[in-house]
Amino acid sequence: GGEITVGARAAPLGDRHLLLLLEDRTQAKRVEAVRRDFVANVSHELKTPVGGIALLAEAVLDAADDPEAVERFARRIKVESTRLTRLVQEIVDLSRLQAAETPSDPQLVDVDEVVQEAVDLMLTLAEGKHMSFRVSAAEGLYVYGDGSMLVTALTNLLTNAIAYSPEDTRITVVARRLEDVVEISVSDQGRGISPEDQERVFERFYRVDAARSRATGGTGLGLAIVKHICANHGGEVTLWSREGHGSTFTIRLPRAQVESDGVDPSTSLV
Ligand code: ADP
Repeated sequence: GGEITVGARAAPLGDRHLLLLLEDRTQAKRVEAVRRDFVANVSHELKTPVGGIALLAEAVLDAADDPEAVERFARRIKVESTRLTRLVQEIVDLSRLQAAETPSDPQLVDVDEVVQEAVDLMLTLAEGKHMSFRVSAAEGLYVYGDGSMLVTALTNLLTNAIAYSPEDTRITVVARRLEDVVEISVSDQGRGISPEDQERVFERFYRVDAARSRATGGTGLGLAIVKHICANHGGEVTLWSREGHGSTFTIRLPRAQVESDGVDPSTSLV
C-alpha cells in the first residue's frame, strides 16, 4: 500500500500541478494570440486584392467606350484574381498543415523523383528569366511521407530562387544522403537576405520587400508552408545567405531505410 506517502507528497505534487496548469494557460494564451494575429493578417491580406479588383471593375465600367482601356483593366483583374486564388489556396494549405502533425497517408517517396518533378514544374518560369538549373540528386534515396507536399515545398523554394535572382543566373539543387538524413538544398545567385531578415522570412506574411513580393505575385506564405511541410515530416528547413551573393535553403528529412537491389521499395520498408 502507498497510503502513508500520499500526504507527504500532496503539497509538492499540488505545486507542480499548479505550475503545469499555469504553463498550460500561458501556452494556450500564446496559441490564441498567434491565431488572432493570423486571422487579422489574413483579412488584411485578402482586402488588398479584393479592393483592387473592385476598383478595376469600376474602371472598366467608366471606360466602357474605350475598348483598349477596358482590355487593360480586364487583364489586371485577371492577374489580381489569380493572385487572390493562390492566396486563398495557400491559407487553406497552411491551416491544414498546422492542424495535422504528420502526413495523413504517408508513403515511401523517391527523393530523386520529387526533385525532378519540382524542377520540371519550374522550367518555364526559369526560362522566362534565362535562368538555368544544375541538379544533382543521388538515386536510391527515400523519405517517408507525402510526395506531393514535398514537391510543393521544393517548388516554393524554387519559385523564390527565381523571383529573387537576376536574369542569367543559375539555381543549384542538390539531394544527398548524410547518414540517416536526406538533405535537399536549393542555392541561388540572387540578392540574398540580411541576417535580421533571415530570422523572420519563415514567418507567415513576412516579406523583406512587400512591394517587390507583390509585384512577383508573392503571398508571403511560401516559406511558412515549407517550414510546416518539413516539420510534418519530422524534418527542418534552414537558411544560409549572404546579402548580394545568394541564398541556400536546405531541407533535412529523416531518411527511410530501404533494402537495396531490385527489391520493391514499397514492400521493404524497415
Ligand atoms: P513571398 O511570397 O513573398 O515570396 P515567402 O514566404 O516565400 O513569401 O518568402 C518571404 C520573403 O523572404 C520574400 O518576400 C523575400 O523577401 C524573402 N526571400 C525568400 N526567398 C528568397 C531568396 N531565395 N532570395 C532572396 N530573398 C528571398
